[in-house]
Amino acid sequence: MKECIFCAIASGEVPADVVAEGIDWLAFRDLDPKAPVHVLVIPREHVESLDELESAEDGSALLGACRSVAAAAGVSGGYRVVTNVGRDGGQSVDHLHFHVLGGRQMGWPPG
Ligand code: AMP
Repeated sequence: MKECIFCAIASGEVPADVVAEGIDWLAFRDLDPKAPVHVLVIPREHVESLDELESAEDGSALLGACRSVAAAAGVSGGYRVVTNVGRDGGQSVDHLHFHVLGGRQMGWPPG
């Protein structure tokens, strides 16, 4: 496996602004935020994208983590959870991550 920036963050090798964590997941602020609240939720174990996620339980745990992160951030007006898959999906880091975005009105459809 080639060097993965999110694996390096999960192992503590590369610093990140961690806001919450669980046994199997980590949540940290996006380096280039697209909203007042922009947190990434990742599995600690390397999974390339949603397409490679093997168990529905793992997906549920990650979505539950997204919900906790949003609640802790106090985005009372609502929020968005996004995962980009593959090049056409806009994925630039090949380690599964859910974007939790909030604190502003979101547009639809996304660009
Ligand atoms: P995506 O384009 O869906 O793959 O999202 C990747 C996200 O990771 C982008 O929003 C980047 O700003 C963010 N990102 C890349 N490197 C880092 C890093 N070292 N720390 C925090 N966020 C990062």
